[in-house]
Amino acid sequence: MSETQVESSPFPPSPVIPATLEGDARLQFQCRKGIACWNACCSNIDISLTPVDIVRLKQRFELSSSEFLSKYTVPYEMEKDSIAGVKLRPVDGGTACRFMTDAGCSVYEDRPTACRYYPVALLSMRRQDEVTDRQYYAIVREDHCLGHKEPRTQTIDEYRAEQGLTVYDELARGWRQLILKKKSSGPTIGKPSKRSLELFFMTCYDIDRFRSFVSSDSFSEIYDLPPDELRAVLEDDLTLMQFGFRFLRQVLFGENTIAVHELNIEQRRQRVAERQQQLEREAAERMAREEDPPDVDL
Ligand code: SF4
Ligand code: SF4
Repeated sequence: MSETQVESSPFPPSPVIPATLEGDARLQFQCRKGIACWNACCSNIDISLTPVDIVRLKQRFELSSSEFLSKYTVPYEMEKDSIAGVKLRPVDGGTACRFMTDAGCSVYEDRPTACRYYPVALLSMRRQDEVTDRQYYAIVREDHCLGHKEPRTQTIDEYRAEQGLTVYDELARGWRQLILKKKSSGPTIGKPSKRSLELFFMTCYDIDRFRSFVSSDSFSEIYDLPPDELRAVLEDDLTLMQFGFRFLRQVLFGENTIAVHELNIEQRRQRVAERQQQLEREAAERMAREEDPPDVDL
């Protein structure tokens, strides 16, 4: 493409190098204290959080997940009318990360997945002829980041291991699979209901609210979870999170991942149907009363 054509393009140039790489591809990069661009990347953020990131950060700040979400994040739609994601909220009236300090990242041990990956982008994909998803990668090269000029070279897998991403990715895998499945089901399944979108948000991001739901009587009335398993799930955020992904596979995609109390479900259905009939009866009686002309004394 000629230079003139590039200049007249309506789209800004993308910093993502258009090549799909495997983990053994080599990456020349190093971020180090003292580099001239120190903190440039954290001054203008667009960071999506995974459920693992939220658990790690809310534990660090000793906040409930609801408190963490309202204080540090903003929701966004991954696709129109589809499931939601959560992004880090920058400083008020600016673009910098709230956790950035002159000395670097103030939450370094619990920094989000996207920060660990940079300048690598994770591409989670599932080919039509495959049953499981695979991870591929791309390199993001932005002018302000001088790390690409440093002489250190390693494979992407080595870089991921160094950044603690092997563990992070494994923990968030169930969440990525749900997103891939939702995207690949496309419009054939139709617009998801408001209730299912709310369930997805609560289960994936608001883990303490999901815990209250799993410990409620209405949950045990439907789901048949052995007491030991229920205890283990409720005791630990990350175990609860994995259970949440399993729960969503059942609720959103009809997979049989958790045993249910069939009899209770049937009784519940009947109660809902009876309640519905009662409401309809009451509405019909009300309408009939309103249409009845009042007696008028002449
Ligand atoms: S969390 Fe840390 S590494 Fe990530 S953008 Fe904020 S300051 Fe930078
Ligand atoms: S080298 Fe890149 S990642 Fe490191 S501080 Fe500079 S801009 Fe940020």
